[in-house]
Amino acid sequence: MKLIDPITKFHAELQKIRRDIHAHPELSYEEQRTSDVVAQKLTEWGIPVVRGLGVTGVVGIIKNGSSPRAIGLRADMDALPMPELNTFQHASRHAGKMHACGHDGHTAMLLGAAHHLSQYRDFDGTVYVIFQPAEEGGRGAERMIRDGLFEKYPMDAVFGMHNWPGMKAGQFGVTPGPMMASSNEFEVIVKGKGSHAAQPHKSIDPVMTAVQIAQSWQTIVSRNANPNDPAVLSITQIHAGSATNVIPDDASLIGTVRTFSTPVLDLIERRMREIAEHTAAAFDAEVEFNFTRNYPPLINHAKETAFAVEVMQGVVGADNVDATVEPTMGAEDFAFMLQHKPGCYVFIGNGEGGHRDSGHGLGPCNLHNPSYDFNDDLLPLGATYWVRLAEAFLKPR
Ligand SMILES: [Zn+2]
Ligand SMILES: [Zn+2]
Repeated sequence: MKLIDPITKFHAELQKIRRDIHAHPELSYEEQRTSDVVAQKLTEWGIPVVRGLGVTGVVGIIKNGSSPRAIGLRADMDALPMPELNTFQHASRHAGKMHACGHDGHTAMLLGAAHHLSQYRDFDGTVYVIFQPAEEGGRGAERMIRDGLFEKYPMDAVFGMHNWPGMKAGQFGVTPGPMMASSNEFEVIVKGKGSHAAQPHKSIDPVMTAVQIAQSWQTIVSRNANPNDPAVLSITQIHAGSATNVIPDDASLIGTVRTFSTPVLDLIERRMREIAEHTAAAFDAEVEFNFTRNYPPLINHAKETAFAVEVMQGVVGADNVDATVEPTMGAEDFAFMLQHKPGCYVFIGNGEGGHRDSGHGLGPCNLHNPSYDFNDDLLPLGATYWVRLAEAFLKPR
């Protein structure tokens, strides 16, 4: 492994920053303290800072030489609304909030890179270090884009990184094309007519209608969608009724749809609506169809992915880079950035959890688990990757 020496010497400081952020988790668009810490550090290191894009977002601008070329490196800062089971010293001090996705580590790794880049300036052009709010469902990346991120700070490509538990520390994973799914949610309300359960002939039974719809929806992925374009349709809640002897007025079906492409998402949404409306009509019921598209699929660009692979291989060796990692049906806000700019998003192995201090919560070290903790060993590795990526992208010509 070829870590950058001055960054390894900065490891203790980065760990201190990471653990401080971990101890003070803040939810989407509430990252006041976290963005203060980020802005303070960047300013202390002589890096010009812009605040307020995406409410609490921070952009640091590191310029060198005269090239108009520019690269964006992005980290996320928000925590999750869940309790932490860990009891070690840097465990959450804010009840019901936790850095269970490692965004504390992402922020610290990018700070480490910014520190090095500002000190050594071995590149020609501009590096934008982007600290975004609200990755966990709040569309913070989209908000920063809407606030003019790419117009005010034109960049040729943008890169993202997420820690990946289960993958060994010291390894990277990436794949060109779709790597994470679109996430979408639906709530479909079947409106019937209630009655005494002993007089079903006086009702339009929304429960039976909802069950028929739920069953039929399961044919969309298996019969309508192209099997080469994977998709998930999960009904996660069915609500109806309040008594054993009452047929209720309505029933609701709630759940999520995940896809790796927009055409298959269009198809699923259309077929869900058709099946719901026509099935309801067949039973004399009506439906209210609500379908919300949250994050689009995350699609890595081929050229930038090949470039990132080369950089990762230079740092950890070809054996430790899985360049065709299995995509995941999880979703990621960075997808919005990749809709606007070419770029690439990679996984950095977080290990199996053996890195955790005593006092961890005994549960698995998985993302969104109350016993999770970011692996501090990654701090110099992630920072080294960022620096090498920026230096290679902005190589003096
Ligand atoms: Zn997460
Ligand atoms: Zn995350």
